Amino acid sequence: MEHVAQLPTSGAETGIPGTESSRIELAELLPAGEVITNPESMERYSHDEGEWAPYGTPLAVVRPADSAQVQAVVRWCIEHRVPVVPRGGGTGLSGGANAVDGAVIVSFEKMNAIRRIDPVERLAVVEPGVINDHLRAACADVGLWYPPDPASAPWSTIGGNVATNAGGVCCVKYGVTKDYVLALEVVTGTGELVRVGRQTAKGVAGYDLAALMVGSEGTLGLVTEITVRLRPARPAELTVVGFFETLVGAGEAVAEVARRGVVPSALELLDKHCLKAVNDWKNLGLEAESEAILLARLDAPGAAGDAEADAVLSCFESAGATWSARSEDADEADALFAARRLAYPALERLGPVLTEDICVPITMVPHMLQRIQEIGEQHDVLIANIAHAGDGNLHPLLITDPGDEPAQIRAQEAFAVIVTEALACGGTVTGEHGVGLLKRDGLAAEISPAVAELHRALRRALDPYGILNPGKVIAG
Ligand SMILES: Cc1cc2nc3c(=O)[nH]c(=O)nc-3n(C[C@H](O)[C@H](O)[C@H](O)COP(=O)(O)OP(=O)(O)OC[C@H]3O[C@@H](n4cnc5c(N)ncnc54)[C@H](O)[C@@H]3O)c2cc1C
Repeated sequence: MEHVAQLPTSGAETGIPGTESSRIELAELLPAGEVITNPESMERYSHDEGEWAPYGTPLAVVRPADSAQVQAVVRWCIEHRVPVVPRGGGTGLSGGANAVDGAVIVSFEKMNAIRRIDPVERLAVVEPGVINDHLRAACADVGLWYPPDPASAPWSTIGGNVATNAGGVCCVKYGVTKDYVLALEVVTGTGELVRVGRQTAKGVAGYDLAALMVGSEGTLGLVTEITVRLRPARPAELTVVGFFETLVGAGEAVAEVARRGVVPSALELLDKHCLKAVNDWKNLGLEAESEAILLARLDAPGAAGDAEADAVLSCFESAGATWSARSEDADEADALFAARRLAYPALERLGPVLTEDICVPITMVPHMLQRIQEIGEQHDVLIANIAHAGDGNLHPLLITDPGDEPAQIRAQEAFAVIVTEALACGGTVTGEHGVGLLKRDGLAAEISPAVAELHRALRRALDPYGILNPGKVIAG
């Protein structure tokens, strides 16, 4: 990975009192042991999972226990003009949590309490370091459901999910993180600790600042508490599986499901490279001869669910599935969805993976899948595909051999061409992973100069000293 340094870090230019004295001052703001400065220990906090995104060397990693400590750290950073990089689980795929030189990394791992689950108001109040799966499990214990379910749910945090507006498998029917955020507590770039949003089911007083914070990737504030909306637990889902001879055929089936007006609770695509990688790793015994499979889930209760499952099956058949069926075996269905979740780590075992994340209109899914294949061939790069296909959210995964630099350059070129193609299809450069570092050029291509200036104006208003996650999303 190349080096990244976004802010001047010499004491003379920034007012930083010198590395050692800075670290001593920081240590006075936090409980003993919660300021990490050892280079080996800091390394694992210095980057996320976004292959090839550059990162720098932090001044320190801090692990605050509460909002007051976060605020104290941010105020110290303002005083000394030191960059602040918030960090959740570090599972991001765009370099958003990557260190810049001389930054203080604020890791939220110690702020991991679920403060309240209210079954009557149907909301939960959590600290930002709560792992997504932990919240979902705690809600399930009382008959409630927190829907946003990124495939990283066992490792990613609610704070990180909010900062990236994470999507997931059930979002095709139930929406993404922003649809569940009611209120936030935030430390802004002026060092204020503020509450935005509200805990009522409705509310329109003032600008929707909570919504503005969602997806802001740590550039507008550090989220220190989150109130999320919950839903009642839902009935068991039915699963429909389809095997396809071509990726485009699978894409046609996705478009057909949308045309028929069926809304599945999941519609995921995996290609043969993913199935093989998972099989080789976990020995799940999955059939990996077909070019692609589609996994659909339907959660309407009773006869309505049966009718939806039949409709999806008929869409798969009419789009040319070589084999499709309702899965009657819950274990088999779970194994297929487990393969979906394991696809990314399984492919990572083959070599560096450059993860794309584009979203196109549903009707353009077949065309985009076709173009991804062509782009892979033109650049001589292996591209595996997983997708939240029902949303048009495609994740081509560009895989190269470790140490093969020419192949890595070709992969980066292919990555850029895919982004251009997504825009040409009326799509967006990132469906759910965020801009971070890897999609800055893509964002610049997607938005007009006037809209870019609106972004900068908002950033200046909330981060007037330019210390919050500098260099990410959009240049200041
Ligand atoms: C195997 C795998 C599967 C994945 N599947 C999905 C998926 O299905 N859907 C999806 O959307 N993403 C997915 N991702 C990407 C990633 O998990 C999400 O972006 C996730 O929301 C990041 O959460 P995190 O806690 O790891 O945050 P991090 O990676 O630590 O940080 C992400 C961003 O949020 C900022 N941030 C973190 N915490 C805070 C805070 N408290 N306040 C302000 N800013 C903060 C960081 O500065 C950074 O910009 C996947 C990643 C992996 C590795």
